[in-house]
Formats: sequence, C-alpha cells, structure tokens
Amino acid sequence: MKKIALIVAAGSGTRMNHEIPKQFLLLKNKPVLYYTIKRFLDAYDDIEIILVLPEEHIGKGQEIIDGYFDASKFKITAGGRTRFHSVQNGLSLINEEAIIFVHDGVRCLLTKDLIERCYEGALQSGTAIPAVDCNDSVRLLMNNGSKVLDRNKVKLIQTPQTFHSKILLPAFAIDYKDRFTDEATVVEAFGLKVNLIEGEPANIKITTPIDLQLAKILLLE
Ligand code: C5P
Repeated sequence: MKKIALIVAAGSGTRMNHEIPKQFLLLKNKPVLYYTIKRFLDAYDDIEIILVLPEEHIGKGQEIIDGYFDASKFKITAGGRTRFHSVQNGLSLINEEAIIFVHDGVRCLLTKDLIERCYEGALQSGTAIPAVDCNDSVRLLMNNGSKVLDRNKVKLIQTPQTFHSKILLPAFAIDYKDRFTDEATVVEAFGLKVNLIEGEPANIKITTPIDLQLAKILLLE
C-alpha cells in the first residue's frame, strides 16, 4: 500500500519563548525537522512526505529538503489557523489510496519500529494511534477543587496517528471544533472508533526548552 507521511510543522512555537519556531531549532547542528523527516525516509524507501509549514517559513523547509533529501519525495503546503486546518491543507494534496501517518514535526525521536507498527495497525484495522502509560498521578480540575483519576485508565496520546485514507479523508471534511486537538478526535466525531497501539516514552513532543535539552541527550542521529 502507498505510504504518505503528513508532517505538520506549521506551529508558531510560542511556548518555547523563541523567535524561530521549535521545528527549526538546531539539535546537534541540524534542525529538529530534519531528524523527523529522516525517520520516515529511513523507514520506507517508497514513502512520500507532505510537509506543512508556516507560510512565512516555507523557504526554511525548502532549504532542509534541498540540503539533505531527494526533493522528488516531497510536497509542501502552508499551514492553517490550527493544527486541524494544517492537517486539512496537507490532506488536500492526497488523491489516492494510502496509509497516511500524521505526525508532529517536533517529534523527532520516534523509531522505525513505531512507524512500522503504526503502518501494520492501520493496514489491519484502519487506524493506529500510539499511546503511552501515564506514570504520574492525575487530577481533574473541578469547580470546587480537584479529584484524582485512576491513572491506570489514562493514556497519553502521541503521533504518528496513522489511518487508511478511506477513513481520514472523509473524516476531515467535517466542520472544525475546538476539541479537535488531534486526528483521533476528528475520526471519532466522524463516528468511528480508533485503535490504540503502544507508543514510545522517548517519542516526546518538543514543546518547552526542557524538551529540547532532553532531545539533545536522547538523539543518536
Ligand atoms: O501546538 P501543538 O504543540 O499541538 O503542535 C503540534 C504540531 O502541530 C507541531 O508540529 C506544530 O508545528 C503543528 N501545528 C501546525 N499548525 C498549527 C498549529 C500546530 O502544523 N496551526
């Protein structure tokens, strides 16, 4: 089956307190986004990459492609107001049957094993959503304080959220809702169940400065 990695990297990165969005910050002299793209290209020879970038930084993305990769494997588009709209823009470039990996540009530490398990999961059941255990105690904020949740019943959700195109493309024709923080919520709103698979603790989303420090330590190349 055709494989497409839709890498969303159109966020502005306000939580990093940095002028440059976090996907372009350097880790061992190369941009975070370089490592993310490389993980997918290393996993499959025949994979296509759709890169969704901030309008004002499309040139930076193009420089990464030209500097390190085979440009014929890429399509580029500009992002939208929210992550949902950025994914929608990327999906508008897909017009064939495929397994689609939707992945955060700032998660550069995922392994080939996770990518392969996502592919197999989506091929078998249509969806594969990586999730990891929550090791901390968890509390839900209430009007009058907070209440503890059973952490054994809580999972933390990662990407690549992986789907058969027959599911993802029609699901994203839906109107935007604020609760659409990932693709799984969109597919559920479309009326389908999603299947969780085991994620990876090191597959962190580089969001704050401490995440960048961690990624420097964990990155092997
Ligand atoms: O904002 P958040 O941390 O959820 O972003 C997750 C991923 O979605 C990041 O890789 C970010 O670049 C991307 N994103 C996007 N378009 C937006 C907002 C976020 O592509 N409008």
